[in-house]
Amino acid sequence: MTIDYRSDTFTKPTPGMLQAMLAAETGDDVFGEDPSINRLEAMMAEFFGKAAGLYCPSGTMSNQIAIKAHTLPGDEVICSHQAHVYIYEGGGIAFNAGAQVRPLTGDRGMINAAEVAAAINPDDVHKARTSLVCLENTSNRGGGCCYDWDEILKIKAVCQEHKLALHLDGARLFNALVATRQDPKAYGATFDSISVCLNKGMGCPMGSVLLGSEAFIREARRIRKKLGGGLRQAGYMAATGIYAMENHLQRLEEDHQHAKMIANALLEKSFTGHMLPVETNILIFELEADWTPVAFAEYLRREGIRVMAISPTQIRIVTHLDVTPEMVEKTVRVIYEMKE
Ligand SMILES: *Cc1c(COP(=O)(O)O)cnc(C)c1O
Repeated sequence: MTIDYRSDTFTKPTPGMLQAMLAAETGDDVFGEDPSINRLEAMMAEFFGKAAGLYCPSGTMSNQIAIKAHTLPGDEVICSHQAHVYIYEGGGIAFNAGAQVRPLTGDRGMINAAEVAAAINPDDVHKARTSLVCLENTSNRGGGCCYDWDEILKIKAVCQEHKLALHLDGARLFNALVATRQDPKAYGATFDSISVCLNKGMGCPMGSVLLGSEAFIREARRIRKKLGGGLRQAGYMAATGIYAMENHLQRLEEDHQHAKMIANALLEKSFTGHMLPVETNILIFELEADWTPVAFAEYLRREGIRVMAISPTQIRIVTHLDVTPEMVEKTVRVIYEMKE
């Protein structure tokens, strides 16, 4: 049995989720006639207090659709230099939207209102038109950290003053909601658009939902079609999202506890260097002494534990639905036994 901490995308559907898929009512979603997709979109829109939702095959597609819908070619998008939309979407902002990025330094993948305000271009023909700010919560490269809500409100005020759209890459927004006990409707009221992933901590095999106003989602639906993301009987997949909203949301708390338990074991070891604060289900730390991340990952792999070397000095561990308390116990034991 392998214990896989490489990503929370490695989960397999549970028996209950498979049952939900088999029982799904479906239709042709390009014609708007898939009841399961319509139900999931409505359920997510209601959850965040947004007018409408759009089921997309992946979080990358949701983000890319949102960016395309909010910008014109030649525009500038402000985000963290560690943002998924910037570093992990294949240059999609340039490819799909023809826009360019103004990456900001921020802290752990989170940017602040002062930085955003300073990065907005003046109304000058030499400059790209700044039209969109993208935030990420939780921040993946930031070790699953959660934005300070007051900072989000300050960024929102800057966006309103300068008539910029505000998009949230909420691939792991459910983790942030569970960790901070915030009201999802506060997010809906603050962001012009939100993309959430169902294929991460929620444990679905695929899928993401993009949320926004009626007009925004109408435009997003056109863009999804152009990208080849208009699906037919994908209600079999959307049913997994409905199932996850009903069964997997609150249990994210358990993933967060597991991450903290593994972090505590690592912090006992002298080879563990700087570790980013563990706020949700992601653990990122530096290795010191004789361990390189590649050697560390290889050692654990022989013990049946998979982790990822994400830089020449850093290891990432992600907990999720398929990680049981017994697996965490074994991991802690293996870490304790490692030579220092
Ligand atoms: C995983 C992820 C996405 C989208 O990923 P897909 O694999 O395309 O669904 C977007 N943003 C962040 C921060 C992510 O971690």
